[in-house]
Amino acid sequence: MLDIRRLYYEQVDSLRTYFIDKELSSPLHMAICGADNRLSPLDLKNRVFCPLDLVEPDQQKIDEWKSKTLHGKHVNYLWQPFIDLHLSNKWLCVGDLFSETEGFVCAIQDGVVPTRNYRKHILKERVEDDLCRKCGSVPESLDHIISSFSVMAPREYLNRHNAICKESHQNFAFKHGLISKTCPIYQYKPTTVLENTNFRMYWDRQVYTDRPITHNKPNNLLVDRSNDSAYLIDVAIPHNGNIEQKYA
Ligand SMILES: [Zn+2]
Repeated sequence: MLDIRRLYYEQVDSLRTYFIDKELSSPLHMAICGADNRLSPLDLKNRVFCPLDLVEPDQQKIDEWKSKTLHGKHVNYLWQPFIDLHLSNKWLCVGDLFSETEGFVCAIQDGVVPTRNYRKHILKERVEDDLCRKCGSVPESLDHIISSFSVMAPREYLNRHNAICKESHQNFAFKHGLISKTCPIYQYKPTTVLENTNFRMYWDRQVYTDRPITHNKPNNLLVDRSNDSAYLIDVAIPHNGNIEQKYA
């Protein structure tokens, strides 16, 4: 759903089509069509009225959204060539979040969360200063809280990172028959080495290579013996502006 106005006018349009088609075979519908001179939103007497003309084209709405300095920030990040637009929005279609949570995530993506920075510069409230309530050294913005707050790095950020690693570990292990059942991610304790006839999987373990490689400890490593191949899975949760660099 792009906007509720479109839903509304689509309903008007389909009801109009219904009445106007019916008119040929039903005196009642014909009478209604003749009488509805701006009496209902269908405006049936008016034969040139096309409700969908009142809805801006989707592209125009997307362009307007992208042009907004604050609300357009996230959507502009999403539209970069190296971002998978479909996968990045998939969480909205899965439907496993409470509606409050989903709404809250959308508010964060829109940048409309009352951080001090937001209250001072967007809401123009009289706050003494806009410095972070926790560290007091930089402006309290969403970016700061989500990904650049050094105090949260060792625990909150690391836990967040590990939760994703566990998620992928459990999914791969289950998919390849290395574990027989799954559990919620907060209960999942990955085993360092899992093995069956075809696959071997490591959790957070150094990989010995022919030539020395500094970063030799991928979060997950899945070895597919039947195909003589391996998947190195490393998880990063960079700030939106850092994705390309982190990926490289
Ligand atoms: Zn801070």
